[in-house]
Amino acid sequence: MSFERPAETAVIEGKEPLVELTIELERLGLNRGTSGNCSIRSSKGFFVTPSGIPAADLTADSVVEMDLEGNVLSAGNPSSEWRFHKDILKTYSWANVVIHTHSDYATAFSCFREDMPAFHYMIAVAGGDSIKCSPYALFGSQDLSDNVVEALRGRRACLMSNHGMIVVGETPAKALGLSIELETLCKQYLLARQVREPILLSKTEMREVLQKFKSYGVRGN
Ligand code: 13P
Ligand code: ZN
Repeated sequence: MSFERPAETAVIEGKEPLVELTIELERLGLNRGTSGNCSIRSSKGFFVTPSGIPAADLTADSVVEMDLEGNVLSAGNPSSEWRFHKDILKTYSWANVVIHTHSDYATAFSCFREDMPAFHYMIAVAGGDSIKCSPYALFGSQDLSDNVVEALRGRRACLMSNHGMIVVGETPAKALGLSIELETLCKQYLLARQVREPILLSKTEMREVLQKFKSYGVRGN
């Protein structure tokens, strides 16, 4: 599936939405301490959370702005993961927001280094019939960025081996909703696997779901 850029995806200016998003991820327990980071597209490139600052200490002034060539445009030290934030926003022009978490269930599942198969139809929220798990690479590295850009092709979300998750959205609300959804899917899949290997939806069943998702939430469907 490829994502068009709908009219609602105008650039979200300002650093405040990034601070609010980071605090909300902490409040929901999806990130803790200095784990994870977020970015939002700006007119000059993107705003990204600073490196090593817990959500509770984050202010709009500490948010860092960068351009899509990787130059830092403001004061401060950008997240160590600025490479994948830049590369995702550069590669996927429909996307305005990138969230990275070390949330418990996504991180636990990522340690199997396996794609998540279609054990539940909600897998389709990420845009396909599986959720890819990118190969392991060192945090902050260009290899990690290359791996996650590839795992996100045709998708809105991916897992990162022995690390966590990334979700991408047009708006902070959409990306946040998807991060909650993916964490829930990881929890449900891990629970199911504690009993035995779950029975998966077939390619045909997932094709039907993906088709139906195009009109999900639209009045009259
Ligand atoms: P930063 O504090 O540098 O954003 O790092 C956190 C992280 O999750 C690295 O993968
Ligand atoms: Zn991380």
